[in-house]
Amino acid sequence: MTAEEQARADIVEVGRRLWERGYVASNDGNISVRLDETRLMTTPKSVSKGFMTPDMMVVTDLEGKKISGQRDPSSELKMHLEVYRNRPDARAVVHAHPPTATGFAVAGIALDRAVLAEVITTLGSIPIAEYATPSTEELPAAVRKYVKAHDGLLLANHGALALAGDVMSAYYRMETIEHFAKISLVARTLGRENILSRDEVERLQGLRGMYGIASPAPICADPATRPGSLRAGDTNSEGQLECQIVQAPDSDERLVAHRISESFKQSGDSADQIRLTYRELTALIEDALRALK
Ligand SMILES: [Zn+2]
Repeated sequence: MTAEEQARADIVEVGRRLWERGYVASNDGNISVRLDETRLMTTPKSVSKGFMTPDMMVVTDLEGKKISGQRDPSSELKMHLEVYRNRPDARAVVHAHPPTATGFAVAGIALDRAVLAEVITTLGSIPIAEYATPSTEELPAAVRKYVKAHDGLLLANHGALALAGDVMSAYYRMETIEHFAKISLVARTLGRENILSRDEVERLQGLRGMYGIASPAPICADPATRPGSLRAGDTNSEGQLECQIVQAPDSDERLVAHRISESFKQSGDSADQIRLTYRELTALIEDALRALK
């Protein structure tokens, strides 16, 4: 099998898995693979990704212009081209609408809390690229800001995007995003999400090197503990984020703020105004006990 035949077969297989897992409905989703320095192979438009055959694929140049194939590429290919322009290491892109991750994208909730060790070590965080009309130039522009520092993105009110060095790995990243979204949803439904501490996040980031996990960017540091390192919101000259924002509290702030805010949420008060560390909470309890005596 030539490399090109392999790419056709892999795209068919990834499409089948996306459909089988319910990550796409109707003709949603698109997959692409970088064949060489000048050509891409991508899925055709107006076809269910669950039932493609190898001969349906379209070969284009890096501007999206068709080189060969009976069918036409998806209008969402522009978003893939933007990924390849910004990430020379990306050899494949998978775009789908997995329901739970897309639900987070619709709710405007990024998957950026430090709750799962394996997500911290692999994807880091999954931010939300701002809403853009699908198939317009707005969409690549929204993706551009995040794609330098992330291998997985949510697209506001739309879906998710994953990239990797090969198409199966890009697909597995899509699985990880949806799995992480499902777990986050269950934890939030249960009413509690115990978040890993900033120290633990830094330990996990250290493991990336040990296991040879190539991450596009480091996790943004807490400027108080690591002055001089990249901080949340730092961008390069083109306005692209340079580090991954992961929500992880300092150790003595852990849990308390969240638990209290949850109980306030139930009583209908604003949850955002509660900021308590363990130390402050302990002091409040001690005061209350003293008053009781
Ligand atoms: Zn889409």
